Amino acid sequence: MKLTIIGTGYVGLVAGACFAQSGNNVICMDIDEDKINRLRKGEIPIYEPGLEALVERNSKNNRLIFTTNMNEAVQKSDIIFIAVGTPPEEDGSADLSHVLAVAKSIGQHMTDYKIIVNKSTVPVGTAKKVRAAIGKETTIPFDVVSNPEFLKEGGAVDDFMYPDRVIIGTKKSKVAEIMKELFAPFVRTGNPMIVMDEVSAELTKYTANSILATKISFINEIANLCDVVGADVEMVRRGIGSDKRIGYSFIFPGVGYGGSCFPKDVKAIIRTAKDFDYHLRILQSVEEVNEKQKLILLPKILKFFNGSVQGKTFAIWGLSFKPKTDDMREAPAIPIIKELHRLGAKVQAHDPVALSEARQLGLDKYATLLDDYYEALEGADALILVTEWLDYREPDFELMKEKMNAAVIFDGRNILNAEKVKDLNFSYFGIGRR
Ligand code: NAD
Repeated sequence: MKLTIIGTGYVGLVAGACFAQSGNNVICMDIDEDKINRLRKGEIPIYEPGLEALVERNSKNNRLIFTTNMNEAVQKSDIIFIAVGTPPEEDGSADLSHVLAVAKSIGQHMTDYKIIVNKSTVPVGTAKKVRAAIGKETTIPFDVVSNPEFLKEGGAVDDFMYPDRVIIGTKKSKVAEIMKELFAPFVRTGNPMIVMDEVSAELTKYTANSILATKISFINEIANLCDVVGADVEMVRRGIGSDKRIGYSFIFPGVGYGGSCFPKDVKAIIRTAKDFDYHLRILQSVEEVNEKQKLILLPKILKFFNGSVQGKTFAIWGLSFKPKTDDMREAPAIPIIKELHRLGAKVQAHDPVALSEARQLGLDKYATLLDDYYEALEGADALILVTEWLDYREPDFELMKEKMNAAVIFDGRNILNAEKVKDLNFSYFGIGRR
């Protein structure tokens, strides 16, 4: 099929590369000229395992091309995906300005029938708004489908290639059949393609992210309770996860969730509910718990240093909001570093892939950013582990002691073996761990 993906970010680029890999002719369009120029040269603007090889292979055989030209992007394809950002507004609602600008532009450029697919995460009612925005510009027939994306950064290519399910939001069976044909190569193992109305499809995406965020905030609350009552959340986690009804995924305690999706999507669904005069009390709490959780280590740190960290040096391991990505949107490392800086501490931070992103966000004003994680420990009064990168799981503890001013670890992801670390004479503090 001939496809265009508008918006060449995490979702658009992965979708474009994977669709090309499955035999389609794909145009990836973006307004960011620098990004498109880099992609044309084979440079991948984001860190995502497996993506570079896929882009390279499909660019070489011309199945994947990059452009900033909207006219070409619209006219040369039969199916047009909208995959632009939907960042949060001040009031928590999703900013639809990019989506609607693209819709308007599609309407202005189309010369024959098109299927327009909303892949961006958008609140209920957006398909209707997209339809209206296009319909204002043209009398040529078109259809709008809601097809939310569930990939996760760090495993995006695999998630797209082998989705747990594909959601197709349309009431038109002819359109649903075309979408099913497009996605068929990705669900050979029998995972479902679920056709539903567009409003349910839009809400499915927010509900999925909300329930995952709820599991995280829930276990974080239990971890905080463990701290108070003297229980060990790692024991509790293992105890509950073995129950098949609960399972082990998304019940790892830590310094809260971040990223480009959970924080904004939880805010947006709360806002949507408000617009319909409904108060989502559980999700309101999920968000509040998460905001507090990002700085949950600070009282422990202050207590250890007798109330002041002025003049102390802290090593931070991990800046991205989770491993295997350079995405720092809403990353807990940001408020932790800024708070330590505000309290007069010196911060030396490492991340395997997110240092240039951290620089772009201006984090180098608050911390020295280092390429080597042992170098970040030089003269440190404590290490704070913020992101659970594999690199940090089995460090050389003897070397750490040599580098550090004091053998103190605050483990914001509970990834170190507490017993082992204590046996090596480190002072160790986790989340909800005795
Ligand atoms: P992103 O910020 O990485 O990329 C968005 C791209 O859209 C940018 O390259 C930007 O230049 C481009 N863009 C903006 N306005 C444009 C316009 N008018 N015309 C052409 N291009 C334009 O965003 P993302 O992380 O890929 O997210 C895109 C959408 O997918 C969001 O709604 C997000 O919630 C959703 N989503 C994201 C993920 C994820 O893990 N990142 C997962 C599932 C769904």
